[in-house]
Amino acid sequence: MGGSCIIVATDLDGTLLDAESYAYDPAISALRELAGAGVRTVFCSSKTAAEIEALQAALGMQEGFVAENGAVLSDGVAGHPPILRGRPVDAVDAALAALRDAHDFPCQWFGEMTVARICELTGLTPEDAALARKRLCTEPVWWPPDCGQQRARWRELLAADGWQTLRGGRFETVGSAMDKAEGLAALLEIWGIERSQCRIVAAGDSENDRTLLQAADDAIVFPARDGRYLKLKRPHRRAPAAGPSCWAREIGELLMPILESRASMRRPE
Ligand SMILES: [Mg+2]
Repeated sequence: MGGSCIIVATDLDGTLLDAESYAYDPAISALRELAGAGVRTVFCSSKTAAEIEALQAALGMQEGFVAENGAVLSDGVAGHPPILRGRPVDAVDAALAALRDAHDFPCQWFGEMTVARICELTGLTPEDAALARKRLCTEPVWWPPDCGQQRARWRELLAADGWQTLRGGRFETVGSAMDKAEGLAALLEIWGIERSQCRIVAAGDSENDRTLLQAADDAIVFPARDGRYLKLKRPHRRAPAAGPSCWAREIGELLMPILESRASMRRPE
């Protein structure tokens, strides 16, 4: 373990961002400190490229990222368009519509929702909800409560057609290439970074973070909205709470000793 570069690969909703208010302010100074120490913070989220770009702009950051659960990447170079790893969203919408028509499933997805409806379900502002609708390869699907059996059947039918489903904090996302760990691996390849040459610290709270947390050198699990923790079959830290203050503290506690020992190694005697 170790290597020459350190990457913090972090989920956003319910991990770095407060699960309800989406606040990030308390993490700003930690993000700056990490950047100052040469640590790259790569957002790995179910959010769209448009949403992540807006968040990075608000944070004064420019960095590559993994969007739409790994189906969309950005190499972080200004002017470069997003890189699509999955089938286009029109194909996802067509598959979802065909399935609902055939089985009368009571689900709804972002592509057919108004911005007002997205705001109602997510608590996002209208501006942010509009960015959340700019999907390229995946659709977050909303299900009414108490539809367990229908939902399980829906999942089976999608899988039989070659689609993946991933549960996040609020929605179940559907697409053809959703894996945050694979997305990050593809990004490292684009950047010419060997996996063995970097130490990856992953942070997440939901099922859609599992592969990322498993593949990392260090894993920090944040509590989901119901207070439960994702169970991982590997050593990991459990953050006491979700959101920016705790995120900054957990990353700091994990990385500061490593960064300090590196600095002292570089310091001349
Ligand atoms: Mg999350």
